[in-house]
Amino acid sequence: MDKTQPRRLPAAVLVAGASAWMATAGNAALWRELQAVGVAQAQGGWLLTLTLAGMLAAALYALLSLFSWPRLLKPAIVLLLVATAAGAHFMWTYRIVIDSAMATNTLQTDWHEVRALLTPRFAAVVLVGAVLPSWLVWRIRVDHRPWKQQALRNVAGLLAGIAAVAALILLSFQPLASTMRNHTQLRYLMNPLNQLWAVGQSAFGQRKFHGPVAPLGLDARLGAAAKPRLLVLVLGETGRSGNFGINGYQRDTTPELAKARAVSFRNAWACGTSTAASVPCMFSHLGRDGFLARKQDSENLVDVLQHAGLAVLWIDNQPGGCKGVCDRIPSVNTSGLNDPQLCPNGECRDEILLRGLDERLAALPAVQREKGVVLVMHQMGSHGPAYAQRTPPAFKKFLPECTSSHLPDCSSEQLRNAYDNTIAYTDHVLGSTIAWLRQRSDFDGALLYVADHGESLGENNLYLHGLPYAIAPDVQKHVPWVTWLSGGFEQDSGLTMHCLRGQADTRVSHDHLFHSVLGLMQVSTAAYRPDLDAYAACAAP
Ligand SMILES: [Zn+2]
Repeated sequence: MDKTQPRRLPAAVLVAGASAWMATAGNAALWRELQAVGVAQAQGGWLLTLTLAGMLAAALYALLSLFSWPRLLKPAIVLLLVATAAGAHFMWTYRIVIDSAMATNTLQTDWHEVRALLTPRFAAVVLVGAVLPSWLVWRIRVDHRPWKQQALRNVAGLLAGIAAVAALILLSFQPLASTMRNHTQLRYLMNPLNQLWAVGQSAFGQRKFHGPVAPLGLDARLGAAAKPRLLVLVLGETGRSGNFGINGYQRDTTPELAKARAVSFRNAWACGTSTAASVPCMFSHLGRDGFLARKQDSENLVDVLQHAGLAVLWIDNQPGGCKGVCDRIPSVNTSGLNDPQLCPNGECRDEILLRGLDERLAALPAVQREKGVVLVMHQMGSHGPAYAQRTPPAFKKFLPECTSSHLPDCSSEQLRNAYDNTIAYTDHVLGSTIAWLRQRSDFDGALLYVADHGESLGENNLYLHGLPYAIAPDVQKHVPWVTWLSGGFEQDSGLTMHCLRGQADTRVSHDHLFHSVLGLMQVSTAAYRPDLDAYAACAAP
């Protein structure tokens, strides 16, 4: 064969090969799930599995046919190969699924947070699943036709792919429809179509609003108080209610909160299963249902507190920040600070939130400060998968702990130890905050700690968080909600921890946060709803 004129491969063959590779090998997590839910082993299960693989391949073929142009086809295939390999790795390893909330999270995630996920195994999967096939694709000489002819072929490829998908759906309609209805998670595992869909939804879906942010609580007024109130609202990260000692966990992960006799609402539930979904919802006045159905972005809790005349400051220790919630109030980010003690390896431990707090308080406008202060502290908390990095050596009470980011490598005991150490450290941060509040006798102090969502620690082989709400296990949604009030606060407000303790098992959710904080700070506005104030039952009449 003449080496200067190697044989050229028809573009359609390359498209078909790439589609088949992604539809089969790239969907290992989907095949495993079909096994796990018993579909693959059931009668006709292998046929259904084959049909699904065929549908995926045909859909990818249709899609790639659109890109079958000389300078476009290879980059398009390479991009899909990389996305497929990365998606397959995360779905396989952490048993996550990919939906629009996950895509939003990923798009908003800081490189810093991602680093922990880039394990050697991830590199190996990308190498075998994407780099090697891409190298092959790049070497192949593709036969493209003159543009009119190629355009016809591309359209024919698109139509053929769509027709094949339609035919396969019709042929297996009964078992396919019931499987998809009974196991909704399957559709979020169809790699890489799930990613394309999720990114599209996240970028162009209804959740983006272009209009102005609607004002809220412009009528907000403060009630009279003996002393200005100082509330520290700690926004927790990845808190599992069940792993808190004060919630009855068999391990004493929260000695400092117990010693301060803080009250814990043991029956508290999150709005979402990820930071990006939960945080804006928590601070909204709408509640979960209203927030999901909203047609416009609106101001939130911290804006209303500011409208009421209070001094408000958002202190954030996550590189990813406040997800837009603190856009209109003063804020600082501590995650990039250089404290030699608290910021090893380019990441700051949560005690950094307390550094220089007196100075931060003194720097707030005096007119507002004298009316009262709300400090929001957004923790790094128990952010996974590198739990061990969140805690300083002195708080590693539970050993041995998991130090790998590839969580399935760790025993469930090691994983639990690493996670519980993060809770013990959070307990110390909260205990230190209470100690600081006690010192500030120029205010009536209070602490409220609520986490954004929970976490899976290997139960049913699930890890991390972010599953679609409807199918997420309770451990991803059941969150801690802890309240501490100073003696002065109790006396002046009539709200007592003793009374709150009697409410510890009442069901509350993030729907209550907005109204509960307004109640604590004596803010009256038309936006306040006493029926959603978790403290109203104990407040003085
Ligand atoms: Zn979070």
